[in-house]
Amino acid sequence: MIRLPRFEYFAPGSLDEATRILADRGPEAMVVAGGTGLLPNMKRRQQVPKVLVSLGRIPELKSVAGVRLGAGLTLSTLCAQDAVKAQYPGLWQAAAQVATPQLRNMGTLGGNLCLDTRCNYYDQSYEWRKSINFCMKKDGDVCWVAPGGCRCWAISSTDIAPALVALNARVRLVSRQGAREIPVESMYRMDGMDHLTRKPDEILSEVLLDDATDWRSTYWKLRRRGSFDFPVLSAAAAIRLDQGGVVQEARIVLGAVASKPLLIEEAGRALTGKLLTDDSIAEAAEKAFAAAKPLDMTDFTAAWRKRLTAPLVTYALKELRGDDMSAQRERLVRHEW
Ligand SMILES: Cc1cc2nc3c(=O)[nH]c(=O)nc-3n(C[C@H](O)[C@H](O)[C@H](O)COP(=O)(O)OP(=O)(O)OC[C@H]3O[C@@H](n4cnc5c(N)ncnc54)[C@H](O)[C@@H]3O)c2cc1C
Repeated sequence: MIRLPRFEYFAPGSLDEATRILADRGPEAMVVAGGTGLLPNMKRRQQVPKVLVSLGRIPELKSVAGVRLGAGLTLSTLCAQDAVKAQYPGLWQAAAQVATPQLRNMGTLGGNLCLDTRCNYYDQSYEWRKSINFCMKKDGDVCWVAPGGCRCWAISSTDIAPALVALNARVRLVSRQGAREIPVESMYRMDGMDHLTRKPDEILSEVLLDDATDWRSTYWKLRRRGSFDFPVLSAAAAIRLDQGGVVQEARIVLGAVASKPLLIEEAGRALTGKLLTDDSIAEAAEKAFAAAKPLDMTDFTAAWRKRLTAPLVTYALKELRGDDMSAQRERLVRHEW
């Protein structure tokens, strides 16, 4: 059995108290919500905070008020919200495909958005990592994905972030210094080691969504096991159509191909002002294919993941057009291409 390292544990009852503890204890402290991402990492000594500040007893993080979703909502609770399913189907589909029912009962919205980046050379036991002299992301100097380079290529594997970037959602970050709201997209940077712009003493308290009356959204995920697995490629899309079916705005985002969710602006532009025809969809899918540059840091080969970018985006957009894509969703689970 792999044991957790020793740590001090705090379970504050308010956001105010939690931010105070984080400010007092500095970089040795981390917050823990459901613990489904952080605790396995601690067991493997990938992350070794000396202090854990639990968010589980803070009621204000668990509220749902219209377009404001508390970061402490479990993914099961999020999926049980009929309004989320009806207005933000892309978000609902992403949340419903995270891990397993048991993990969704524990894992939270905020924890998913702040999930550590992943890599074949990093998500291993301490002994395994030691046997290769570790990697740049923890305890070593070299990125084994691209040994000649000077950056870490671990990928963003959160399912929910691409869906929220597509919906142009924002997050509220709270610390002793005050609160700020930023687009979800701005919370990420292209650096596998330091992938969050969120400061260590900031708590993600809420996700803020815009009214989605005129929007359609969806989320498609490629993974090895259809029952549960991290994404190795995902496509989130959100579009706003006018009465005549002409695209007014389109946001297409790829997940699990880079250290942050990739908003492919060229793909959105390829659709804007046009009807969702097979041709305009193919053009947008081609732009996404060109922008996706996955490397060999996760399951499946990078070349295959890149090749599947165009079909995944095509399926997403055809579904938003109103086509019945249930057979393609089934085939995706069984890897029948
Ligand atoms: C077997 C397995 C399969 C999985 N499959 C998937 C999958 O398919 N897709 C997927 O997206 N994830 C997957 N996960 C990862 C994880 O279960 C989910 O991402 C989950 O939503 C994380 O939420 P949590 O509350 O458990 O986060 P925690 O583990 O508590 O925290 C994760 C990180 O976020 C930080 N954090 C948590 N809450 C906040 C907050 N409010 N403000 C600031 N920082 C915060 C923590 O400090 C930590 O760094 C899987 C995990 C396992 C073990």
